[in-house]
Amino acid sequence: MTAESSNTPPDVVRGITLRQPWATCVLAGKDVENRPAPWNWRGWLLLHAGKTIERAPLRIPLVARAIRGRTLETGAVIGVARLTDCHRCPDSGRLCSPWAQRGAYHLVLADVHALPLPVPATGALGPWRPSAELLKQVLLQLPDLPALKGTT
Ligand SMILES: [Zn+2]
Repeated sequence: MTAESSNTPPDVVRGITLRQPWATCVLAGKDVENRPAPWNWRGWLLLHAGKTIERAPLRIPLVARAIRGRTLETGAVIGVARLTDCHRCPDSGRLCSPWAQRGAYHLVLADVHALPLPVPATGALGPWRPSAELLKQVLLQLPDLPALKGTT
């Protein structure tokens, strides 16, 4: 507790909720998140693993390799990433990533950092705004990432 705590966090971070195993795949190099609708947000995202684990993707070799030896945390923020682009790849031809699905909007993720300690949290649809407390708990674990704090 500090005497000077701001009630509202700097408005530079949003949350994205992904089902497992996809959330953990992002920590392991999945650089595209597929969505049915485009996102306007650009910038830092808290990577939130939802409560659900989809079973079918666990049998996809790309996924199985990515999550090998990793814990599939649920209901927690497990890392941060920067959303740098949102696009659709052309209907024919190469996709931009082995993780990209044809016909979906591709949220391009960069600068992914895993949290040493996942922070329990409730997610939401769309880019959601994290509470000041949640953001604080995440930032405390990323002292070497001043860019995330956004304001000086
Ligand atoms: Zn793409």
